[in-house]
This record gives sequence, C-alpha cells and structure tokens, in this order.
Amino acid sequence: MIDQCIFCKIIKHEIPASFIYENHHVIVIKDINPKAPIHYLIIPKEHTKDIQSLDEKNISVISEEIFSAAQKLSRETPGAEDFKLIINSGYNAGQRVFHLHAHFLAGGKFGEV
Ligand code: AMP
Repeated sequence: MIDQCIFCKIIKHEIPASFIYENHHVIVIKDINPKAPIHYLIIPKEHTKDIQSLDEKNISVISEEIFSAAQKLSRETPGAEDFKLIINSGYNAGQRVFHLHAHFLAGGKFGEV
C-alpha cells in the first residue's frame, strides 16, 4: 500500500467509493466520471504503478485477477455481456491514477480501437 495513492485509500475503505465487488485480490468500483452506461474500475489490491512495472512474479497473478473479474462482471451484470476492457499504462497513454487498474466499459455500442 502507498500512502498517497487514492486507489490504495479506497481499497482500505479510508475514502468512500461505490463498490460493486470485492475479493481477496481485487476491488471493483464505479468510475466517478463514467464514459459509458456501465463504467467500472477493476483495481488489484496490490499496488503496482503500471503494466511496465510488473515483474515475473506478479504479472500472471495480476492479469488473471483482472480477467477473472471482467468475466464475472460480464456474466453477472445485465447489459454487460459485451464489454471493452482498457488499461491506460503510462502518462502518454492517458493514465492519471498510477495504481494499475482496468476500465470495464459496457452497456453501449463502442467503435473499434
Ligand atoms: P486512468 O486515466 O486510466 O488513470 O483512469 C483513472 C480513472 O479513475 C478515471 O476514469 C477517473 O474518473 C477515475 N477516478 C479517479 N478518482 C476516482 C474515485 N475517487 N472514485 C472513482 N473513480 C475515480
């Protein structure tokens, strides 16, 4: 956990968020500034800055946690059968919160990347 990280604070329930799901490894919250009818953030509890920072010990664990959460959300959320999963990794890619997370977007029709 990193003291100044907003997502670490949400994970510790120190600041409020709209929780959708939580298990030992990840939390899922509603994005505060939604870009789609369904816009959730899948946030691994282990603090990692971005994909570039993953090492061989946690790369498979964290990617599995994110994919598993996305599959569960898709199965259990009405209207989220089809979804887009986006990870902004690095400032130039649009990342603004430097705690690795995936955007789960659904409930609409999205163009190709
Ligand atoms: P990124 O640009 O990929 O780093 O995405 C950060 C996302 O976090 C943005 O979509 C923000 O709207 C969202 N966000 C920032 N602060 C909060 C918060 N306190 N609760 C929920 N979502 C947040």
